[in-house]
Amino acid sequence: MKSYLLAAAALSFAGPLSAATLSDAVASDMPRLMTLYRDLHANPELSMQEQRSPAKLAAEMRALGFKVTEKVGKTGVVAVMENGGGPVLLVRADMDALPVVEQTGLPFASKVRAVARSGVETGVMHACGHDTHMTAWLGTARRLATMKDQWSGTLVMILQPGEETGEGAKAMLDDGLYTRFPKPAYALAFHDAAALPAGVIGVTPGYALANVDSVDITVRGVGGHGAYPQTTRDPIVLASRIVTTLQTLVSRENDPQDPAVVTVGSFQAGAKHNIISDEARLQLTVRSYKPEVRKRLLDGIRRIARGEAIAAGMPEDRMPVVTVREEMYTPATFNTEKLAERTLALFQQRFGPERAKVTPAVMGGEDFSRFWLADKSIESLIFWVGGTPKAKWDAAGGDTQKLPSLHSPFWAPDAEAVISTATEAMTLASLDVLKKAN
Ligand SMILES: [Zn+2]
Ligand SMILES: [Zn+2]
Repeated sequence: MKSYLLAAAALSFAGPLSAATLSDAVASDMPRLMTLYRDLHANPELSMQEQRSPAKLAAEMRALGFKVTEKVGKTGVVAVMENGGGPVLLVRADMDALPVVEQTGLPFASKVRAVARSGVETGVMHACGHDTHMTAWLGTARRLATMKDQWSGTLVMILQPGEETGEGAKAMLDDGLYTRFPKPAYALAFHDAAALPAGVIGVTPGYALANVDSVDITVRGVGGHGAYPQTTRDPIVLASRIVTTLQTLVSRENDPQDPAVVTVGSFQAGAKHNIISDEARLQLTVRSYKPEVRKRLLDGIRRIARGEAIAAGMPEDRMPVVTVREEMYTPATFNTEKLAERTLALFQQRFGPERAKVTPAVMGGEDFSRFWLADKSIESLIFWVGGTPKAKWDAAGGDTQKLPSLHSPFWAPDAEAVISTATEAMTLASLDVLKKAN
């Protein structure tokens, strides 16, 4: 195994910036940043409905000297600072919250309610921690704006809408992110993490997050009286067979070395004890990393649905309808190895190996992937910053099953640790990319 520590020791951190100076500067920014964080947390906004958060942060960025464009990709913000020759670096934070009723009991807990796209009124909560992302993003901007003499190049800092629905990154790219603004050679982002104690950084070189596909299966049958099954084709029995056979896609058809998940998260059918319904509906989430694994899973789902219907004697005009929801697709996130390893070495040198480590890939999804997929010459990295409060982590013995996860109504990260660590780490990583040529 490669020793990242040795690589770190070999790095010479040139320039007038001492680690203590940056830590002190971030520490003195923290009261203001925590005020912003609590305000953002108390005022969450649903995906693609972000208005208040981008307006507030756009004003802050203008005050720092960035050239700011709003409403990119509907509600996104692009803030550019040109500072001499050198590479273009994109730093991204996402802004959206979730339709979750907050139950943290925090004094600044969200009481916001809004109408979700489904038409249902719901509570709204920053249950994924995107409020910490926005806050550390501004913290990074503040540091880099005051340290302009220590870097050279162009900084493109973006606030992205609609991450949770997988549409915001695409919306910004479709709206000319790489044509109307300087096109990046490097892209950086971070996400808070429930699976790491507060203030611990995780870096995953290569595939880090999964392809996320949503699939609907409408299983059609021939309805009738529950006492006379011979006059019907029961869609509940057929859908049950489909659910069972789907389990073999991962266990029997997939290479065990290639991670994959097929989960049936919803199964709805029927209205009454003694009626055989004429339809059952399944909703699946399908996860993978490699494009060929994704294709095999999706093809397999179609084949199994049809094959089981044939086995059940379903007539051709009542075959199941399988819909892959392309508009909900999030492609796998890939961290380019060179940038991932260089940045990990930098973090280990600054924070020590206990606070900066390689972490395994996860089957969650992130549309940060799209900024790299739109141009694979970009060096790209999203890293994790642990958020689970240290005392809770220790009490649970590090068993994440006993702790609230992201998207939980109880997710209350140690925001101070996340924001200060992420601000310092993101500033360091940015300075490393944009370091002046000597
Ligand atoms: Zn999320
Ligand atoms: Zn998130």
